[in-house]
Amino acid sequence: MHVVVVGAGLAGGRAVEELRAAGHTGEVTLIGAEPHSPYERPPLSKDVLLGRADVASATLFDDAWYAEAQVDLRVATEAVGVDLARGVVELVDGSRLAYDRLLLATGCEPVRLAVAEAGRAPGSLPVPVTHLRTVEDAEAIRSLWSGGADGRRLLVVGGGWIGLEVAAAARENGMEVTLVHRGAQPLGRVLGPEMGQLFAAVHREHGVDLRLGATLEELTAGPAGRAAARLSDGSSVHVDAVVVGVGVRPRTRLAEAAGLPTDDGVLVDATLRTGDPHVWAAGDVACHEHPVLRRRVRVDHWDAAQEQGRHAARAMLGDPAPYTRLPYFYTDQYDLGMEYVGFVGREGYDDVVVEGDVPGRVLTARYVTEGTVVAALQINDWDAMDGLRETVGRPLRR
Ligand SMILES: Cc1cc2nc3c(=O)[nH]c(=O)nc-3n(C[C@H](O)[C@H](O)[C@H](O)COP(=O)(O)OP(=O)(O)OC[C@H]3O[C@@H](n4cnc5c(N)ncnc54)[C@H](O)[C@@H]3O)c2cc1C
Repeated sequence: MHVVVVGAGLAGGRAVEELRAAGHTGEVTLIGAEPHSPYERPPLSKDVLLGRADVASATLFDDAWYAEAQVDLRVATEAVGVDLARGVVELVDGSRLAYDRLLLATGCEPVRLAVAEAGRAPGSLPVPVTHLRTVEDAEAIRSLWSGGADGRRLLVVGGGWIGLEVAAAARENGMEVTLVHRGAQPLGRVLGPEMGQLFAAVHREHGVDLRLGATLEELTAGPAGRAAARLSDGSSVHVDAVVVGVGVRPRTRLAEAAGLPTDDGVLVDATLRTGDPHVWAAGDVACHEHPVLRRRVRVDHWDAAQEQGRHAARAMLGDPAPYTRLPYFYTDQYDLGMEYVGFVGREGYDDVVVEGDVPGRVLTARYVTEGTVVAALQINDWDAMDGLRETVGRPLRR
């Protein structure tokens, strides 16, 4: 049986590892558009930007592993079509690859802002405008300060996880940082206003100039080789570089073109199988019918990519078990570490119960809807996570 995995990211890498661990002896091919073997992305916005790790340390397996595991890894190779009726993947070089089982692990790509894209046109701005998804992006951002920050100013657009982690790394490397975020608090949509305020306070204490409730309206060439960034609140700031972190969107083009059902991701059932009996999807691109949460969930988190990749591998080998793991996420910013488990939908939550040392920032929070804990987090309280995980899905007990 030939298993083809499209997308050599974390989900794809863990899937091929699990195929062999589970005893699959047939052919395995892993197709990746990037010129690298699978690697972890979380260090890119943390230790790599902080200069504590190089990008090579994020690699999942070395070349010898693929040879020994007999995984045919094809990097810098894009899959451009899938013929579901014939069971064939079409590659960018015109070749065709027959499969018995196919896993789509094509991940996400950064949302691009028109105003910043105009700034990326060659010669239109004297400063770099970057997103952060790949090792090349991380190297480009790190180069902004690797020769010394010299009082230069970075504009970060977006107060989500990526924007905040980039802002923290830039401050720790001596850059001046202005962060513009359209919401009233950073992370407000995910964590709510209470925890959003906490993250805002942490960044202000570290000297980040937060511009909340505002958007980037225009980027033009400014004085002294800088760019002038005009914000929707009427203010403007002169900056030496821009990093845009305004979210990601699932890479569904291949699935859509093949005729697979999609809607904010490739739709999969509880076992991660798509609308086609021979095709599965995992990781950032999968919009999963979660049997415990009883709703469709697509999360772009490291844990889900890894565990769904492994789960899909077992499913392709015939394991009928549903994927029941709760979404889990973590972040590190300055000396603040956070872990979050569970899921709050767009409808929000009724109440948040915060316990611990809030001024000292060692705390837990439980998000409650109709008396049930739907999500929980810990900040710098590293032993709390297992207990918190147990509370999710259960009635709130104080
Ligand atoms: C900078 C950064 C920091 C992060 N930090 C955290 C964190 O602290 N905590 C956390 O929980 N999560 C974090 N994440 C999210 C986490 O890294 C992702 O959820 C995870 O990488 C998703 O893995 P994936 O394999 O599903 O998709 P991806 O990592 O996007 O990999 C998909 C791969 O498929 C390839 N591909 C796409 N289409 C094709 C095609 N047609 N043919 C061939 N190849 C194709 C892509 O080029 C890509 O290499 C971070 C993400 C980034 C970018």
